[in-house]
Amino acid sequence: MRQAIACSPTGLWRHSSVQRRLQQCRYDPLCCSGIERAQGPASSRSRQSVMASAVVESSSMMRTEESASTSASSILSQGRSKWIIDENEELKSTIEHRAWTLGSMALMGGSMFQAVIQAQDLGSTGWLSLGMAVLSAYVLSDLGTGIYHWSVDNYGDGKTPFVGKQIAAFQGHHQRPWTITQRQFCNNVHQVFRPAAAPALLFLLFSSFSPLWWNAFSSSFLFLICMSQQFHAWSHMKKSDLPEAVLKLQDWNILISRRAHGAHHRAPFEGNYCIVSGWWNGPLDDSGFFRGLENAVLASTGVEPRCWHEPEYAIEEEVPSPRMSFPQ
Ligand SMILES: [Zn+2]
Ligand SMILES: [Zn+2]
Repeated sequence: MRQAIACSPTGLWRHSSVQRRLQQCRYDPLCCSGIERAQGPASSRSRQSVMASAVVESSSMMRTEESASTSASSILSQGRSKWIIDENEELKSTIEHRAWTLGSMALMGGSMFQAVIQAQDLGSTGWLSLGMAVLSAYVLSDLGTGIYHWSVDNYGDGKTPFVGKQIAAFQGHHQRPWTITQRQFCNNVHQVFRPAAAPALLFLLFSSFSPLWWNAFSSSFLFLICMSQQFHAWSHMKKSDLPEAVLKLQDWNILISRRAHGAHHRAPFEGNYCIVSGWWNGPLDDSGFFRGLENAVLASTGVEPRCWHEPEYAIEEEVPSPRMSFPQ
């Protein structure tokens, strides 16, 4: 049992005693058993596993807890966590991942191509219109990711129809933020490009009847929403692992920065939901926009958001060191 500190929605800090969630790394080829991790090199024992950024634990406690570790499936079967990541989770891109990603991109590209043809016909007015539409999509996509991210972080669970998988994925990400940095590109982004394929196809089918601004806006908005998953991954990576161009875009606040998104993973875990540019985080958080929405949801449904309560899980912030000493 450990002491954790969490923040209530009213801003009152409270202490509570929480049971650390039993976890076991199951990522192929990085996989390592809980026992191996517990008995691994000193660096693994010193790995920080924090609860609400304020948990202190001893390595001996980790050994005791992890020696009692059970598999994800047994945890699930006991109903102790709805958020544990699928034990068969794959971090590499498969042909299916690539097909969904590239297929959706092609559909979005088709609508944008139609917008370019329309802009050519209209001349300078057309190009201005196209540019404004893309700029609007960029600004509004950040807001869109914020509202969607807030909703899946706070409501429903892994069994929620249509978005259950995404809800579980976001909760899994909160438990182990480092996993997103280990995913290959299509493995990571296909989770969003796949559901976006249907609207992208619809937009393309109607593109010859749609105005220029709509073709440019809808395709770039959808594309940026999907790419936010990669912008998100970049915001978790070390500077040394990022391409120079991405670092510059983060430094100029054109893409969500590491510092800006890092705040989302720290107590009180109730803001900084936007993950394209992060421009909307300040206005939304400072205005109490999400607290207002949460109170409205509570008043109409009686459901409290998850962020009003302390996290149920320990947070594994870094890639477990034992991946370096994975048994041959
Ligand atoms: Zn989140
Ligand atoms: Zn994150």
